[in-house]
Amino acid sequence: TSVIPGGVAALCARLRAAGREAYPVGGCVRDLLLGRAPGDWDVTTSARPEEVMALFDRTVPTGIKHGTVTVLTEDGGVEVTTFRAESGYADGRHPDAVTFGGDLAGDLSRRDFTINAMALGPDGAVIDPFGGRRDLADRVIRCVGEPERRFREDALRMLRAVRFSAQLGFAIESATAEALRKSAGLTARLSAERVRTELEKTLLSPWPERGEGLFAWGLLSPFVGAEAQPDLTTLHRVAASPLERWAALCALLLDEGDITDAGDFLRALRLDGRTVHACAAGAELGKHMPRDRAAWRRALAEQGEDACTAAAAMEDARTGGTYREALRETLAEGNCVTVRDLALSGAELLAMGYRGADIGAAQRRLLDHVLDHPEDNRPERLRELLK
Ligand code: ATP
Ligand code: MG
Repeated sequence: TSVIPGGVAALCARLRAAGREAYPVGGCVRDLLLGRAPGDWDVTTSARPEEVMALFDRTVPTGIKHGTVTVLTEDGGVEVTTFRAESGYADGRHPDAVTFGGDLAGDLSRRDFTINAMALGPDGAVIDPFGGRRDLADRVIRCVGEPERRFREDALRMLRAVRFSAQLGFAIESATAEALRKSAGLTARLSAERVRTELEKTLLSPWPERGEGLFAWGLLSPFVGAEAQPDLTTLHRVAASPLERWAALCALLLDEGDITDAGDFLRALRLDGRTVHACAAGAELGKHMPRDRAAWRRALAEQGEDACTAAAAMEDARTGGTYREALRETLAEGNCVTVRDLALSGAELLAMGYRGADIGAAQRRLLDHVLDHPEDNRPERLRELLK
């Protein structure tokens, strides 16, 4: 148990002292067994949410409807969730009703994959009723229970299966894969936000090419053509940042005609406005990629850094080029690429007698010159140029 952080261990001890069961569970147990530092700690307990809130000083009812209370500990927030005993999932998204009073076995049996369905007992022993440790060793993602039924209950699990296989480099076990193929159409019920979250985690993972399953099985057919089959190994050519990976995916889909517009595709997936605009502008910029530093400065001035980053990622993903590097070097030079970078400020132009719209016009003229002649961005030289 020495691997459990002190705050989490103390939290469990406190619940046990109150006569309740408490177990670290799910992703943190999986990560611990993999020898990775868990991102966050979840605890499952027989205590009711009100009881958890009464037992600890600092709590936040983060998901009280589902029985989740976040307890703030010296190791950060820990999600404490009461054992459930819920009925069905009529809509394939949310349990119809959440009732408490279940037990650990029931709690674990409702989890998605064997590797996510393990808990740690008070003695530090791993409680593993579904063979999660064996599947970790064999590097496979396998549903707990009957895969088709589990996907019918919650279609998000299909996207999670691919996401975990990409994050861990695991294969999807054959019965689980077979059910994915059969049940893919059910993802149409999911909200775009939830699809986007899983797809983004897949794109940013160490094995993004495993995400090809999302397309092969048609899990994304509400968003891309059913024939889409991008080669996602090329994602390794671009940095694992959200903007660059989304841009790269757009490029691969655009090239195959699987989407017609990057902005529309990303908007449908409810991406943030910054990413949508950068990728849409990047796709435009890609029709005439900057070939030298001066062209990059002009692109930066006209489209902004995000659009340039997107354009570079798109082209690099397509061709294995080095546009991102050229953009980075251009930025590192620190030359003027916006009106704000000019060595002559608006106030100084005002002092020189410029008024109203003439100020902006003068700035644009100066910027236009300086983009091609960065060495001229000095106050005296800019004053001279205005004459
Ligand atoms: P991550 O490192 O991405 O947080 P995680 O395994 O902790 O991975 P979460 O989405 O945080 O994933 O979920 C925590 C746990 O809750 C999972 O390990 C799993 O046991 C369970 N779980 C989450 N989502 C589902 C689901 N849709 N169906 C069944 N169980 C789920
Ligand atoms: Mg988690």
